[in-house]
Amino acid sequence: MSDIAATTAESPARSPLAAEVSRRRTFAIISHPDAGKTTLTEKLLLFGGAINLAGQVKAKGERRNTRSDWMKIERERGISVVTSVMTFEFEGLVFNLLDTPGHEDFSEDTYRTLTAVDSAVMVIDAAKGIEARTRKLFEVCRLRDIPIITFINKMDRESRDVFELLDEIEKTLALDTTPMTWPVGRGRDFLGTYDVINGGVRLLEGGGAKTGAAQQIEIAELAKLNANLDASAVKDELELVTEASKPFELEAFREGHLTPVYFGSALRNFGVGDLLEGLGKFAPEPRAQDSDQRKVEATDPRMSAFVFKIQANMDPNHRDRIAFARLCSGKLSRGMKAKLVRTGKSMPLSSPQFFFAQDRSVADEAFAGDVVGIPNHGTLRIGDTLTEGEDFNFVGVPSFAPEIVRRVRLTDAMKAKKLKEALQQMSEEGVVQVFRPRDGAPALVGVVGALQLDVLKARLEAEYSLPVEFEVSEFQLARWISSEDRKKLDTFVAANTSSIADDVDGDPVYLARNEFYLGYTKERAEGIEFTNVKDVK
Ligand code: GDP
Repeated sequence: MSDIAATTAESPARSPLAAEVSRRRTFAIISHPDAGKTTLTEKLLLFGGAINLAGQVKAKGERRNTRSDWMKIERERGISVVTSVMTFEFEGLVFNLLDTPGHEDFSEDTYRTLTAVDSAVMVIDAAKGIEARTRKLFEVCRLRDIPIITFINKMDRESRDVFELLDEIEKTLALDTTPMTWPVGRGRDFLGTYDVINGGVRLLEGGGAKTGAAQQIEIAELAKLNANLDASAVKDELELVTEASKPFELEAFREGHLTPVYFGSALRNFGVGDLLEGLGKFAPEPRAQDSDQRKVEATDPRMSAFVFKIQANMDPNHRDRIAFARLCSGKLSRGMKAKLVRTGKSMPLSSPQFFFAQDRSVADEAFAGDVVGIPNHGTLRIGDTLTEGEDFNFVGVPSFAPEIVRRVRLTDAMKAKKLKEALQQMSEEGVVQVFRPRDGAPALVGVVGALQLDVLKARLEAEYSLPVEFEVSEFQLARWISSEDRKKLDTFVAANTSSIADDVDGDPVYLARNEFYLGYTKERAEGIEFTNVKDVK
């Protein structure tokens, strides 16, 4: 693989900034619940020495409670509602792993997190193949052409036919596959993996955790290790795989058309080293980001960042929150002043935080690809751009059309004004989307995952003393509407006032009773565009 590694080799004239950028890999893991994401995360962190005890990541029930006491939901369900960031170093590279909630339910946070990564690892349970949530997350990655590395997990157990699994990836995701390793033996007789590129077999027993050269073992020797193994069938299969597999093409991978595939067992810490090595070699360094003015290169010396997530802090008595910002260029140093482009105001970055495994530590400097936590009291919103003084806004942090729409019912009508303020705040933080009907009816909230509603309810009660209930409204769907012809939009809005609402930015939204109504309206609304994704500007 050395020739492939050369593609990321350093050029002699590289500046210190470019060198920092080139050693960063910012990625997320996408998978269906139970495929092994937590186990894999833990093993990856172990490789990087970021944590020294296996089992800590899963122990989030116990450990995180102290930090996020306000969020009873998290405690009760033993899940992490909050997306976290883990940074670890391995062989000179800095890996930023952006975690997405592991629960079946999901929220906009999950999607937005994918706007802040440069690549993703897709974990597939070998017995199950592509599952619903994996596919959904994959689609979000595809929207942004995020390159995907595949890890087929649980090879130590009975799996589906391996050729069939690759075929499923190719067909259902329209993604070419190149197996980088290949399992030798299956299920209980799983012995290890064959290195398709360099030859040689790495055995499950002994040396599995190490990266580097695979042990060179003759196929005939393998049969001696396990009497159930048909040596000639294994040999034929490996020959077939080596000859028939699509060659790995870095460019196709980087463009999101091809995925290198690794086989392993996260539980047994097998194949994880290969995966990490693959991430280091193939996954792209921080990409250039689009803004409304120009493309911002990661090696541009002027600092810039965008906020993709806001986490309310753990202490309900303090309205402080942490904005997670992805650095896009330059260097962020502690104490520097940044310009918040939306307001034009300057804000001091006095204590940006890095997230090493589960512990926050104060960062002195960060580079493109890094994620920093910026404590603030509600100044920062999702989608905000921070610069060193320039006026541009990053584009591409999306809002998604809600899949669930509810009306908020206040038990104490006297508190309507307070509720309005609270909902405004919650929507700026990205907890839920708020739609204010033009006809003056009470506000509607929209969410992508039901859990967001629970979080909203808990927070309104804890932070604003506002007990609320949610009611099913006559509307089920919301779509942003726009038109190149301003007049057409105005006419449409005027003709449909009772179905028009404003979102948090004052942009118009069409509310529909159901898919049928939506389709019916769309057909008749010539020149009006209905979208279910909106860029937060
Ligand atoms: P997540 O929901 O994707 O985070 O999945 P977890 O990492 O919590 O794993 C789900 C279950 O699968 C747990 O019981 C793990 O111990 C188990 N598991 C994870 N990886 C492997 C593996 O490689 N082999 C086997 N046999 N079990 C695994």
